Amino acid sequence: MAIQATPTDQRNQPAGLSIVSALVNGVQVPVACPAAWCTENHTGDERRHVEDIDHVSDNVDLNAPAFNSSDDGIFDQRLIAYAHLGQDLYASDPNMRAAHVRVEDRGGEASYLTPDQADAFAGNLDAFATQIRTLAHTARGTQAVEPGHYPWCTPGACAIYQGDEGPTVEHRSADATITAPAGFQASKDRILHAHLVADDAYEFGAPAVSAVDATGSGTLLDTEALDQLIDQTANALTQLRAMRLHMQAAQA
Ligand SMILES: [Zn+2]
Ligand SMILES: [Zn+2]
Repeated sequence: MAIQATPTDQRNQPAGLSIVSALVNGVQVPVACPAAWCTENHTGDERRHVEDIDHVSDNVDLNAPAFNSSDDGIFDQRLIAYAHLGQDLYASDPNMRAAHVRVEDRGGEASYLTPDQADAFAGNLDAFATQIRTLAHTARGTQAVEPGHYPWCTPGACAIYQGDEGPTVEHRSADATITAPAGFQASKDRILHAHLVADDAYEFGAPAVSAVDATGSGTLLDTEALDQLIDQTANALTQLRAMRLHMQAAQA
């Protein structure tokens, strides 16, 4: 039976490696190269030693569009990371000697991954993609602040009315309310209620707090007056909590 002759150059070469010509120290010499993916120009880029020859594939890029990625706010792509195959046939580390995946981030930090680690990393990226889609879905469902309104405005609660100089808006937040407990003999069930207001037409265009007491008498509080109300309320709360504790304490 005739035995098929193996070409000398291909003998004992691991799968995926072929023999190519490389310029080493001024001479073209045959070297092993994972030519199926290596895109290095071995015949043109001279190396001093055969050990200096690197085998690298084309890059795959992870780009992210971002509206904040350029000064003029134009929707733009920025490179987050890129990856390629690498193989250093003369490395002392067997993982480097084998074909591996190299990932480099924006900061220039490189990670070298075995094929199994690359699969695990790809799994992380799949999970990340799912999370990004969830974030996008949440962002899409979150209301923006309407132009001309404040972040604290209650949607639909701001009143538009005709002022002397055209329509203006009175902005209104949600209410903070101290509700009278059952049996309380207040004229109204609300001891105090307050909300933020701002009127585009009035001099109190800066937000103020409108506070209304149980009698229905209201006043506008500026920051100083509101600080006083907060302090007094806090003191009263402290005293109420102390009274609550005293209710359970034994008589001397
Ligand atoms: Zn190569
Ligand atoms: Zn508003």
